[in-house]
Amino acid sequence: MSSPTNSNSSTTTIVPDAVLGPIGYHAHSCGYCKSKAERRSSSRGSSGSPSYYASSKYLTPKFYEDLICRGWRRSGTLLYKPDLRNACCPHYTLRLDAPAFKATKDQRQAQNRFNHYILGDEYIKETAKLHPKSKAEAARYKQTFDLCERVHESELSYLQEPTKPAHEFAVTLDPDTFTEEKYLLYENYQRIVHKEGPDDISRHGFRNFLCSSKIKRSTTIVDGKEKKLGSYHQCYRLDGRLVAIGVLDLLPNAISAVYFMYHEDLHTWSPGKLSALRETALAIEQGCRWYMMGFYIHGCTKMKYKADYHPQYILDPEKYTWDLLDDDLKLRMDARRYVSLSSEKARGIPAPTKEEAEAAAASRSPPPTNDGDDLNLLSQNMPGALTADELEAFDLGSLLRPYGRGAVIRFSDIDGWEGYPEPGDGRTDGEPVIKQALGDLVAVVGTELAGRLVVDFAQR
Ligand SMILES: [Zn+2]
Repeated sequence: MSSPTNSNSSTTTIVPDAVLGPIGYHAHSCGYCKSKAERRSSSRGSSGSPSYYASSKYLTPKFYEDLICRGWRRSGTLLYKPDLRNACCPHYTLRLDAPAFKATKDQRQAQNRFNHYILGDEYIKETAKLHPKSKAEAARYKQTFDLCERVHESELSYLQEPTKPAHEFAVTLDPDTFTEEKYLLYENYQRIVHKEGPDDISRHGFRNFLCSSKIKRSTTIVDGKEKKLGSYHQCYRLDGRLVAIGVLDLLPNAISAVYFMYHEDLHTWSPGKLSALRETALAIEQGCRWYMMGFYIHGCTKMKYKADYHPQYILDPEKYTWDLLDDDLKLRMDARRYVSLSSEKARGIPAPTKEEAEAAAASRSPPPTNDGDDLNLLSQNMPGALTADELEAFDLGSLLRPYGRGAVIRFSDIDGWEGYPEPGDGRTDGEPVIKQALGDLVAVVGTELAGRLVVDFAQR
């Protein structure tokens, strides 16, 4: 690529870990509880689910992993970090310790039942005759549930000749590109499982939401083993037909599950469990410590299953440390809408008893509401965000370093900046807000990540 020709003070083109476009702090409707405030008023910004948003143009897998570890997540190319304190349904970040994972009876049964269906009685009987297991091996198989062994057990490429299984089952990691076959599966899933109407399901929507992420794909060799990084579609094929897709981000230390969709024909086989087990196994095989199942909303029935995978850790929204999701933490979350364990511990707040938690939950105040007029990030006291003082030391101009084709704006050309606004200042119509936009972004990503990214306003 040719060198940049803009007149920025720095002429060195750098290779950033991320190119982002700040969007800002916005509240929108919460799809989980449909809060009363939301039902009362449909006016923009009147809702219980505020987040800070940014668009992504380029991300290394490592940078995205670091963002997740600060409470961020992506939806297509859109990145967002929910404000947990001001939410009706706080979105906690989860991660499962994959090598330490022990499947529950339900989970083991789902995998074994599916394997049996794929292999069929005849294959199982004939193979036991042709390739008998030693006594020790048979005993080990019966007494232990080796996750990686079991998830591959019925896959065609793992089977022993010459007996044919009842069904052919294959799983591949494919690039997250659009194909018509994938779209037809998505259409079936959204229509049958999510009960969406034809107006809500489109190729364009599928493309934007689940294809062509901005996380760079690559393959490296680590300890003699192939390690894939970036965004992929894990495609499940049954008798040659695409029946399920796990949309996954493969990161240096984690597999992050973006979405999972399956054909209605698969429903009877507990596909959600099968995919979680397979993705946990993939984490182990890729040499990753963590399997990330996305956000967790405590008390949300649809998300309860995530807590059935142990040991599960929750990201502290203020200190960005990880706490085991145990009974102590669950009781705190039963009692209080927003929990930062580090902050509760620092203030010496003990976990409530079950009775105390139930009483506290019953008398809890309604979710906070934003009226949409005051959505200045700093005035929201968003957990984990930097304060104005902490921001002062950061050189906002560094975010506009030239990269690739060159920066789109010179920091010195931005007028009207007299320092970061005080909390509660709010924005005035027509005021140049670029510096504030940069400041907000740094406040939410933190200075370490801010030093590794550049901003491009041209992308949206
Ligand atoms: Zn809600």
